Amino acid sequence: MKHVEGSGSILKSRLARGMFLLVAFGAVSICGAAVPGFTIDTEIPAGNAIVNSIEGDTVSIRQDLRDTKGEWFYWAFRVKGAAGRTVRFDFRKPDGTALDIVGVRGPVVSTDGGKTFSYPLDGKATTCGFTYTFAPDENETLFYECHPYVRADWDAFVARHAADAAKGVFAVETLCRSRAGAEVPRVRAGCLSGEPKHRFMFTARHHCSETTASWVFEGIVDAFLADDDLGAWLRANVELMGVPFVDYDGVQAGDQGKNRKPHDHNRDYSEFIYPETKALTEWIGEHAQGRLDAFIDLHCPWIRGDYNEFVYATRKDPKITPPTAQEDRFSEILEKIQSGALRYKAANDLPFGKAWNKGVNFAQGWSSVIWACHNVKEPKVCRAMEFPFANANGAVVTPEKCRTFGRDIALALRVLIDER
Ligand SMILES: [Zn+2]
Repeated sequence: MKHVEGSGSILKSRLARGMFLLVAFGAVSICGAAVPGFTIDTEIPAGNAIVNSIEGDTVSIRQDLRDTKGEWFYWAFRVKGAAGRTVRFDFRKPDGTALDIVGVRGPVVSTDGGKTFSYPLDGKATTCGFTYTFAPDENETLFYECHPYVRADWDAFVARHAADAAKGVFAVETLCRSRAGAEVPRVRAGCLSGEPKHRFMFTARHHCSETTASWVFEGIVDAFLADDDLGAWLRANVELMGVPFVDYDGVQAGDQGKNRKPHDHNRDYSEFIYPETKALTEWIGEHAQGRLDAFIDLHCPWIRGDYNEFVYATRKDPKITPPTAQEDRFSEILEKIQSGALRYKAANDLPFGKAWNKGVNFAQGWSSVIWACHNVKEPKVCRAMEFPFANANGAVVTPEKCRTFGRDIALALRVLIDER
């Protein structure tokens, strides 16, 4: 799709990739003045939505699942020309069934073209819809299921660190070409001038719609470049290796990513059908000789409920992980030293065998962490971490808090290494 106009009668036509174009004709009358109908489109970064219908000021809309097996919950769209109106957005399947795909603080909204975002309907949205009143001069509004983070955000981050690149402590390179032909970035930071004492690797967006992980990733890289004691120690001792977008094409397209058919990027480490996963493992082998002190894969969980509204680590089968006491200690340190407001508790870590964290969840193929547990030589920490979309133990999840938590991860790794 990409463009839908309301309100009145609707013309519907099918476009490529299962997307729909909906155009509505006519005008509506507000206080006696004829105003043109508003439009809905997905021509925004990582846009994703299918409009079922627009009737008056009620929109029925749903996520575009594309190649997802089963349901997932990512969506993003723009409304134009609705200034002064109050519009109801209901998330529904084509058969009318309600879809519980609105985040726990309602939509993430931007009224400045995507420069800034907030949760203006926190506490006012339901799980399957919200009502939004557009200000009298509000002619373009972006609605996202979660804070967006695409290549342009990464490029802006890289541009902020141009001076660090010039100093030789920050380097963005190409991991590989994606299936769509794009150059997939990889990053190194910290001790780049000689052989480092330690190497930490961080990955994000194995599941492309898990955006808050990217803000944590930024915070980790920031820690390596900061003009403070931690930054100086990291630059003297550690090389960061990072892949900010493992499912690069999915990030740019606004796909769900999770449960992509035939399997998603984080179930690809048995088969390697995606160029990014293969390149990532080869990079570890060639550049780090298979040796990393830490491998941490950053994710976001389900949209709401237990194990979805706090930060936690998913612990792997103790038979394959680094010594459990060491993993436990890292979680303890992280809880103790955290300076941000995401309120991580080590006790919230998800042990192997509990909830969804079971062997059967990986029947489709190994995850990156399972691969790393089997292949990386003597890691001290090897885990996935989950960062909720909107609520973390009561705290509002924001990019800045996620960045601070990223720094806390880097600090906790330093403390763990210093203790040994
Ligand atoms: Zn994930």
